[in-house]
Amino acid sequence: MRSLFITTILGMLALTGCQSSPPAGVTSSVFGHLPDGKPVTLYTLKNSSGSYVSIMDYGATVVDLVVPDRLGKPGDVSLGFDTFEPYLTKSPYFGASIGRFGNRIAKGQFALEGKSYQLAINDTPNTLHGGTRGFDKCQWSAAILPGSEAAVRFSRVSPDGEEGYPGTLTVAVTYRFTADNRLEIAYEAATDKTTVLNLTNHTYFNLAGRGPASIKDHQLLIRASHYTPVDDTLIPTGEIKAVSGTPFDFQVATPIGQRLSQAGGKPIGYDHNFVLDARPDGVPLVEVSEPTTGRWMHVFSDQPGVQFYSGNFLDGTLTGKDGQHYQQYTAIVLETQHFPDSPNQPGFPTTVLKPGETYRTKTTYAFGVNTR
Ligand code: BGC
Repeated sequence: MRSLFITTILGMLALTGCQSSPPAGVTSSVFGHLPDGKPVTLYTLKNSSGSYVSIMDYGATVVDLVVPDRLGKPGDVSLGFDTFEPYLTKSPYFGASIGRFGNRIAKGQFALEGKSYQLAINDTPNTLHGGTRGFDKCQWSAAILPGSEAAVRFSRVSPDGEEGYPGTLTVAVTYRFTADNRLEIAYEAATDKTTVLNLTNHTYFNLAGRGPASIKDHQLLIRASHYTPVDDTLIPTGEIKAVSGTPFDFQVATPIGQRLSQAGGKPIGYDHNFVLDARPDGVPLVEVSEPTTGRWMHVFSDQPGVQFYSGNFLDGTLTGKDGQHYQQYTAIVLETQHFPDSPNQPGFPTTVLKPGETYRTKTTYAFGVNTR
């Protein structure tokens, strides 16, 4: 049982120093403790329909995401652990906020304004998801935001030189869960020295809800006519390649399993950045649906790419929620982002952030059901 102390909203107000009236439906509980004894807090953002998302301050991490199926039965569509401890050492970034740089930077090296930087190598021979102690492994400050919808803002200051990155970075991630089951994630950051930045979220979704289901039957549509092919260390070759005629063509909804074995990689599967096409306002960049429960998820973002990862490295050894052993291909991760290794790829959109600029980006995961 996870919940130890459910604090009242009034209690939370006292904790955060926030004076105005809080949104209905935000509660907090102690989820566990850091090795130094500090409590880790789990915030639960519940909407009027009873759906909720729980997010902890360690890694500003989504822990549970519960939405109904077509019969109205709630189900958790995110992978993770029941207790805090395994998040410290075993988590493959379940639900986490990723920074400073989502995905890989080749050999952990890049140059900026004539200076070379060497980052921590944590995915030999590259840097992955911010390094050895990325933003996912830091405790963030949290504040419940006033307003009619449940929202929590997590913030931290990443010191100059953290994991090898230049500049003191002030960063905030705000989660909002709306009445119509939209999880909005807004990022904001500023630096005091030129740096590189690529923030994303790493929730592993399975729209069937808890259970051993593979995602091979999930239907996937990605509005991307191009992708960035990778070498055997998953670093983009620099080419922007058309998806047509390849297993990466998801321009029409297709079961993920249909061409999975042709996706290449070691282990085999999807672990690729898709170059998103321009879309009219209100059109999602990704649509996923699951036939048995009827659940769908639509993803919206202002980012130029999305990393579609099919849980290839899950191998049944992790004991997750409800004692489940997460097997290969039991999750879909859709990381909205700038392209991997952008600091070394002059042909990719820039990830440079300069002093005086404000980094602002937003991604929304919207949930619903098909009625038949
Ligand atoms: C990467 C995978 C990596 C996984 C870690 C994904 O974002 O693209 O290569 O193994 O994160 O869980």
